[in-house]
Amino acid sequence: MGTSVNRNDTLRHDPDCIFCRILAGEIPSDRVHEDEKVIAFKDLHPQAPVHVLVVPREHRRDVTELAEDPALLAHTATVAAKVAAEQADGDFRLVFNTGASAGQTVFHVHAHVLAGGTLAEGEL
Ligand code: IMP
Repeated sequence: MGTSVNRNDTLRHDPDCIFCRILAGEIPSDRVHEDEKVIAFKDLHPQAPVHVLVVPREHRRDVTELAEDPALLAHTATVAAKVAAEQADGDFRLVFNTGASAGQTVFHVHAHVLAGGTLAEGEL
């Protein structure tokens, strides 16, 4: 089933998308932030002491689609910084895996916030 637009035309939602299902509360998540535009929850398989995903509520495939809404892209970065300040010392790495070859496995745009301790360079 494909992406649908809800009746008030504000939110794209894909019932087959795992992050849409987390957003809908159908799958549990450990949320550290939520507002009308995005939620942020802990990654199931953390790659750093703090590993949080910031996920726009609207179903968009990747950061190139998110960039079509610059305010939402900026808000995603702002929430990432807030999470890093609350959960660690404020320094963080922000990663958008974009496309399967780059390691994207969930095709609902999300920003990885990696923080806490000294992060190694290299792959996520
Ligand atoms: P990607 O590889 O950049 O698409 O990142 C997807 C991330 O989602 C991975 O780091 C997974 O560990 C994470 N993930 C997948 N399912 C869940 C879940 O149900 N809860 C929290 N994180 C998840």
